[in-house]
Amino acid sequence: MKFGLLPTLRVSRVVDEDDKDLHFIQENKKEDGSFYAILDQAPPVKQEHSVTIEYGGDKVLYDAGGGSYYVGSRESWYPNLNGFGEKSLYDLTFKVPKSNVVISVGKLQGESMEEGFAVSHWVTPVPVAVAGFNYGKYQKVEIEDTITHYSISGYYIQDLPDSLARFRNGPLGAMAPRSMTNYALEQARAQMQLCTLFFGRAPYENVAITEQPNFNFGQSWPNLVYLPISAYIDSTQRWMLFGHIDNNFTGFVQEVTPHEVAHQWFGHSVGWASYHDQWLSEGFADFAAGLFLEEAMGPKWQKDYLDYWDRQKRRILEKNSFGVAPNDAGPLWLGLRLISPRQGRPTRV
Ligand SMILES: [Zn+2]
Repeated sequence: MKFGLLPTLRVSRVVDEDDKDLHFIQENKKEDGSFYAILDQAPPVKQEHSVTIEYGGDKVLYDAGGGSYYVGSRESWYPNLNGFGEKSLYDLTFKVPKSNVVISVGKLQGESMEEGFAVSHWVTPVPVAVAGFNYGKYQKVEIEDTITHYSISGYYIQDLPDSLARFRNGPLGAMAPRSMTNYALEQARAQMQLCTLFFGRAPYENVAITEQPNFNFGQSWPNLVYLPISAYIDSTQRWMLFGHIDNNFTGFVQEVTPHEVAHQWFGHSVGWASYHDQWLSEGFADFAAGLFLEEAMGPKWQKDYLDYWDRQKRRILEKNSFGVAPNDAGPLWLGLRLISPRQGRPTRV
């Protein structure tokens, strides 16, 4: 059985359900570091079969400074069989230095201290396609949702990551992460309500909106949203930072929260049968971000809504520096096969 696992995470032991050692293959991380467990025989079809894997290593997290961390290896920090292709239940226990906080997929079952470390236990209430977490020196705030009654919480970091440290005494010195978190939470709540109205109830009762040090990259995991730090900086600060208003970037910041929240429905509730259909998840999340700008932000934002569709049109038709427009790359159905050095990479997934 081939497992997805980051090659810097080295396997030390594999045992079957009777605690019997199994052979495994994991070559040098610089050669072919893929990990395979070798079963004595094919396990019976449609019966549960368990394998226990002991492993350890690093390069999953990178310290971004100021209490922020990049979670680099989001999918392959644990041995998994088929990436996003299959759903399963997860029961996860994290043990971390007590100054930091883990926010995991699943529902928090309990927290305790062990040998000076903070321990938290999370269980997914429904099968999910991927298990993951965010990690850092987080402060937590909550927002009440009296209409749909989801439990929505926000996690922010008081200090700036090293990449923005030069602004500590400048435009971002007055950064107000707490109030910007409230703003992001209000947007998340509005989008949760809007998506519930249009698409039905989300499969997750609790959603965590978490800050990450990346500037132009957001992502959604089951009940866990990673927002770029740029979503926590207001428009005045962005103007002071860049010296001008970059419309594309302003657009990205306007879209990223409703887009990622919509992935709780498209991507993490309704999945895709194969990579041919994966674009539907992005397409519906983008569509839902447009709905948000139209319905949740009120009439004074009409211009933003119209600008949004104008931006979408340009994104498809405008040629990049290689003279290639996304529209010319090939049939949408080919999905990730169309990715090449001549194509831009998505900044939001
Ligand atoms: Zn997306």
